[in-house]
Amino acid sequence: MTSNVPFCVPPLTGGVPDAVVKVLDSRWLTTGPETAAFEQEFADYLGAAHVVAVASCTSALELSLRAMGLPAGSPVLTPSLTFCGAINAILHAGHRPVFVDIDEETLVPSPETVAAAAARVKPAAMILQNQGGYPVDVPALTEAAGLDRSRVVEDAAHGPGAARGGAPVGSSSYAACFSFYATKNMPIGEGGAVATSDEEFADRVRAMRLHGMSKDSWKRYLPGGSWRYDVKAVGLKANMTDVQATIGRAQIQSLPGWQEEREQIVARYDEALAGVSGVVLPQRNSLDGVRHAWHLYQVRVKDRDAVGDELQAAGIGTSVHFIPANQLTAYKEIVGADECARVPVTDRVGEELLSLPLYPGLTADDQDRVVAALAEAMRTRAMRTRS
Ligand SMILES: *Cc1c(COP(=O)(O)O)cnc(C)c1O
Repeated sequence: MTSNVPFCVPPLTGGVPDAVVKVLDSRWLTTGPETAAFEQEFADYLGAAHVVAVASCTSALELSLRAMGLPAGSPVLTPSLTFCGAINAILHAGHRPVFVDIDEETLVPSPETVAAAAARVKPAAMILQNQGGYPVDVPALTEAAGLDRSRVVEDAAHGPGAARGGAPVGSSSYAACFSFYATKNMPIGEGGAVATSDEEFADRVRAMRLHGMSKDSWKRYLPGGSWRYDVKAVGLKANMTDVQATIGRAQIQSLPGWQEEREQIVARYDEALAGVSGVVLPQRNSLDGVRHAWHLYQVRVKDRDAVGDELQAAGIGTSVHFIPANQLTAYKEIVGADECARVPVTDRVGEELLSLPLYPGLTADDQDRVVAALAEAMRTRAMRTRS
């Protein structure tokens, strides 16, 4: 029997449907007690002081930048190898993206590439991204940028489960932004969160996720609540609903087990693909104390687009993370060709990255099919170049 192997099937914890029905029956449909409970539970999972749940990671990034109160048009460092949503967040917050190149092994900026970008344009802030689940060295990169930690936003969309020196990503961050999008390690469908060590910053983000209305304005419809509010800073409409939050509360129970499953699947891929020539495996990044979240299993292959098409034809779903932002039309127009030509490693490596199926519940049989299809694509390629 051959069925397709999709790129991702989001795992669902038993009990989610009942929890959703319970929230619907309570008639509290938007931000409320479930959201507050989810924030506490996600903060406990991370070991973070404060978590503010929001609509998406993209809005978490924009809210974090807005809550920093930077002057309009500030230069903000960002890897170009990232999701377009992160670049949009910089632009919607009224700032200017400055592209940082990556280190070829880790696929994230290094102190050298950050320092080079910061020497070109003095940054007001920086977004860092845990590409594929690799926990970036935030203090080292912050220092290389010459920034205070209160000017660094971590795009931790790939981060839940990752840790450095025993400290989970987001546990001690000034602003770590998480995604609960359907394909992410902690799927709700849609949703995001900001984790922060700073109470005042948390309060600003909390107000700004709901138009900038004063803190806890969601309580105005509770018994004894007041209709009075003030708007001190212009915010977004980017709150999380209790329906999302109750899904999150159930999903988070499964997250530690899912992370272990991801590690087992990765070990299996590593072993099975080790002998396939032409495939560069993801770096183990086996520095002491680094725990990878394994959000993605990204291999590198020449002729990536054609290899991806062949896997597709064999019923194997793949994806690419990411098309570098400096290659996308809108950003080329906004930041200019010069700025877009400053990330050569990203351009070269970005062409070769291919993400294979990786999700809890992926069976060994399905993994074997992925490996066989990739090996076949590489074999025909090797024969063609020989003849
Ligand atoms: C998915 C993703 C985002 C956006 O997350 P949303 O919750 O969909 O807004 C941002 N950055 C990275 C690196 C991502 O992978």
